[in-house]
Amino acid sequence: MLEVLVDMAPDKDVESDQSLRCQEEKSAMASQDSTNRAVTLLSDRALRPDQASDLAGMEAEAPGTIEAASQKVFEQQRDELRAIVDDEHQCRKVARQIENRYGIDEKDIHQPESVGDLVALLEQARQIGVAVRAVGSARSLSDAPTPTSDTMMVSTCGLADSLPVDAEVLQDSAQAERLYRCGAGRTVAEILAELDPHPDDPTQPMAYTLQNLGAGQFQAVVGALCTSTHGSGLHQPSFPQLVAAYRMVTFDEAGEIVALQLEPSPGNGAISNPDAFAASQSQADIPVTLVQDDAQFNAGLVSLSCLGIIYEVYLKLVPGFYLEEHRFTDWWSNVKTQLSELLNDNDYFELLIDPLQSDNNGVPDNRVMRTQRNRVETYHDCGERPLVMELATTEIGRITSAILLEWAIKSPPARVPRNLHTGTTATEVDCYTDKNYHVLQLNLNINSASTEPAVAVEHAADAIDAVLAKVQANFEDMKRRFPPPYDLGLDLDTPFHEDIDALKAAWREVPIPTSPLGVRFVPANEAPLSQMYQRATCTIEMPMPGSDYLDQRSADDPVYRLRMLDLYEAYLDGRQKLFKEVEQLLIDRFDARPHWGQANFLDRDTAARVLPAFENWLDIYRVRNATGLFNGALTDRLNISMHPDLDDDPVPLPDGQPVQGKAVFRHNRSENRGSLKLKDGLAKLLYQRLTQPVEEPRCYTLFFLSNRCKRMGVSCVASTQNLIYPYVVEFRFAPTGELLSLTEDYDLDNALALNRNSGTASFDGRYITIRGAAATGLREFVRAGRRVSAQPLPEPEGPVVLRLESLASGNWDVEPF
Ligand SMILES: Cc1cc2nc3c(=O)[nH]c(=O)nc-3n(C[C@H](O)[C@H](O)[C@H](O)COP(=O)(O)OP(=O)(O)OC[C@H]3O[C@@H](n4cnc5c(N)ncnc54)[C@H](O)[C@@H]3O)c2cc1C
Repeated sequence: MLEVLVDMAPDKDVESDQSLRCQEEKSAMASQDSTNRAVTLLSDRALRPDQASDLAGMEAEAPGTIEAASQKVFEQQRDELRAIVDDEHQCRKVARQIENRYGIDEKDIHQPESVGDLVALLEQARQIGVAVRAVGSARSLSDAPTPTSDTMMVSTCGLADSLPVDAEVLQDSAQAERLYRCGAGRTVAEILAELDPHPDDPTQPMAYTLQNLGAGQFQAVVGALCTSTHGSGLHQPSFPQLVAAYRMVTFDEAGEIVALQLEPSPGNGAISNPDAFAASQSQADIPVTLVQDDAQFNAGLVSLSCLGIIYEVYLKLVPGFYLEEHRFTDWWSNVKTQLSELLNDNDYFELLIDPLQSDNNGVPDNRVMRTQRNRVETYHDCGERPLVMELATTEIGRITSAILLEWAIKSPPARVPRNLHTGTTATEVDCYTDKNYHVLQLNLNINSASTEPAVAVEHAADAIDAVLAKVQANFEDMKRRFPPPYDLGLDLDTPFHEDIDALKAAWREVPIPTSPLGVRFVPANEAPLSQMYQRATCTIEMPMPGSDYLDQRSADDPVYRLRMLDLYEAYLDGRQKLFKEVEQLLIDRFDARPHWGQANFLDRDTAARVLPAFENWLDIYRVRNATGLFNGALTDRLNISMHPDLDDDPVPLPDGQPVQGKAVFRHNRSENRGSLKLKDGLAKLLYQRLTQPVEEPRCYTLFFLSNRCKRMGVSCVASTQNLIYPYVVEFRFAPTGELLSLTEDYDLDNALALNRNSGTASFDGRYITIRGAAATGLREFVRAGRRVSAQPLPEPEGPVVLRLESLASGNWDVEPF
């Protein structure tokens, strides 16, 4: 669970008595004013630069104002705030994520609504030779949902209905009421809303519920499944264990597109009666084949869109129950000696650890927030959660965390420890009882990145100690660079230290976490790619917020940009470095495994080392992804992307007819090179023929890395240019006629070029014939070159005809010049 860095307490370090009195006098007026401004901010939603400064300024003038304002806003506008976050349609939310992260326009996102649509989509993708990447909510903080360069993005938001369970096909029809069936894109929030008709009335119990959850409700159920999303509790299932069966569109051994229902082997949890199932499919347009096989079932649970697209899921339900929560501050030295008892004595148990040491009666120690949640049969009102926990789920949490981060990074050795302390201790709960999912979830909507390596539970204390030691060492180094005393520098625009370069270097070289560590405990499961595969696990999450607002504020102000945005960039670089180093440290010492939905950096060898069934999973993957259609950024990174070899024999021309395309010739005078670009299907064919074996040309969609995305700390791309003609091949010639290079290309200057030497091209399997102005341009270019080299000039008649086989040697004329 990502805990927000929420620090709303008055700042004792900077207050003098006088300033305190002033603040008290001002606070009554400021409070009303703050409320009005905060209401404006929130109802506008978008935070303008001046507004963000206002909010920060308010807090600087009178610490606590944000809290006062927020409380009022929250009380007055609870419903409106919920509506702001919740009313947007899921398809739009997902599209917004995809647009922001990958720069793909909403109109280019595919939104299948049925299994038939999915099958058609795979057929289309296979035809044009591009990958498909399915996403749920596209919220993973990693490259798991990231497309490779030529990909059809598939949002599953249109496959989100709740569906009836057909008791007739089950082995035990009574089981139907304990199963929940829905489309892959249904969000966890939608599922819970359906299971709980009285969400605001804790006295009305739920008939059935999900036994365990992650901290967010935003995930699509299959998005959560595919990264092995988990909550905490050594006996509480992670997502893969909540799933009884799922349906997937994929490829079989023969390379045919198939729809499968995957279940565990008979006797090991299979739910369907094979005969009844087969009968139910006899009339179906797209019949689903039942596969009851542990290996296949487990491989697909955590499969990250690499084995196929899951379109339906059957979840296991348990009778509704209540949890009683206690959250209180303790010390790590105390908790670690009792860890195994605490895990055994509590149903749900997790920790929030301040990664920087404080003084525990003269001994350096780390503060810990202990969260213990236990099942109770009936509801009893024993107290409430602090308001700050609910505020953190609103825009207020988002704004506050951004502002506090900005303060933190401009005063590294001073503000961060304060924030961490408050963040660790601010959410104590004496006693709070509610329906299980209310207690388990904290639906934060904060810009952040995290890494979350997982170690075997028996190594939990040592692994946590190793991370704490690393963080403390970085902090000591920061203190050496910037010795106390500190001015906390609450003026938002001015870093506390004049030497900005030194501050930047500190954040780059010895970064420290800006939020407490989240530590959770999860039972073993059987999914080969899961971090919990066959081992009870301790997950160590290092969340570090980001800020949406710096960009906006710094847009027109170069001085501010230099001071704050550059510093922020340094923080983001440092964040990435810290994530990498923590992951590596835990891999080296404890064979840590990645949470695929959080920042992780493994290569293939390391994946195979820490996930013992990785190679077995690859065997299944190679069949399902033989076409390469399920390649993505993640498979590229792991170096497991599949690139089917092209046939050695020349590809027959479609229908035996010459292939037609467009041709453009340009003379690059500065380099004295000629460039002939051929486009359309013709270009793709030529490229394949000339450079076999090659990957499919990758020009479907073009991405550029954007700074904004880099700042998010995830591997992502933004801004896309969708091309009218997806394939372009470029021949570059020296004036003597030699072919210098042959590349696939993106025809960015297409419009310009077309107005010059454009023409047509056709290819009959052997000869490429260029006509029109493109032929004239090419001929004149080569003729001029040959004149220089004193070669005889051929007659300038007719089209230019090039022979494919002789192109590369430069001896490519039939009668070209
Ligand atoms: C604020 C926040 C809080 C979080 N809290 C927790 C937590 O408490 N516990 C935890 O374990 N994790 C947590 N995470 C991580 C999060 O649960 C995972 O990253 C999850 O996968 C995100 O769900 P999604 O629907 O956005 O998935 P996406 O990012 O859309 O997809 C995840 C992966 O699944 C694949 N996929 C999606 N749909 C399909 C499909 N239909 N068929 C095949 N493949 C598919 C995608 O290609 C991708 O590889 C948190 C993340 C955030 C941002």
